Amino acid sequence: MEELISFLLYAVFFYLIMRFVCGAHMIHGSHRNRGVSKTAIDPVCGMEVAQDKGFSKMYHGNEYRFCSRSCLIKFDDSPGKYLNLDGDIT
Ligand SMILES: [Zn+2]
Repeated sequence: MEELISFLLYAVFFYLIMRFVCGAHMIHGSHRNRGVSKTAIDPVCGMEVAQDKGFSKMYHGNEYRFCSRSCLIKFDDSPGKYLNLDGDIT
């Protein structure tokens, strides 16, 4: 019986340590996301792409970022389709 109690105490202790460590990581991570590394929205698929990841392209003075090469190619094909530049003036 004593073994079970000590095991439970150990489990709770371990759980609290893990919770503290993970919590600290989460706070640090969200702070970093808001501050240093920005994300851009891939206009083709709508995915968030970090500034230092994926592919980028300058178009009409704006930099657009793409999660993958296939999204970049799709955008190159018809940029207006993804930026709503053609038509849609309402
Ligand atoms: Zn994409």
